[in-house]
Amino acid sequence: MRCPFCKEDRDKVVDSRSSDSGRIIRRRRQCLACKKRFTTYEKIGESFKLSVVKKDNSRVPYERDKIIAGLQKACYKRPVSAEQIQQMADKVEEDIFRNFDKEVSSSFIGESVIKHLRRFDKVAYIRFASVYRDFNDAGELIEEVSQAIAESEDIGQPKLFDQ
Ligand SMILES: [Zn+2]
Repeated sequence: MRCPFCKEDRDKVVDSRSSDSGRIIRRRRQCLACKKRFTTYEKIGESFKLSVVKKDNSRVPYERDKIIAGLQKACYKRPVSAEQIQQMADKVEEDIFRNFDKEVSSSFIGESVIKHLRRFDKVAYIRFASVYRDFNDAGELIEEVSQAIAESEDIGQPKLFDQ
């Protein structure tokens, strides 16, 4: 497996877990070069093929890199590390693989990204949600922003709950 951080192709598996009645194996890997951890998913028995159904009903192969790219764009110049972006992508993939087998809608992925971004970084979350949800008017956006601010005051340190 190629490391998503340094692109080195040497790693060790530190943890394996199966989900979806054992059909999907989630492996936690550690890169031997940079020591960072990342997650891979493997499907048993058949090659792993998940399609993303877009709004116009066309289908494209699922690619984790697209989620990473979306997260990176949302987190541009925000205090979010490459490792945290990988963690968010892991959580989005868990949502996807827990619920879908062959096809997943692009809107499900978008909402899942929004959900996890919201817990990590409010600004990145607003940035992503405003582009993704295409808010119709400023009032809608302001409502969303004030709700996010109110929640961030409630939540305090979300990382404690994420472990
Ligand atoms: Zn590495």
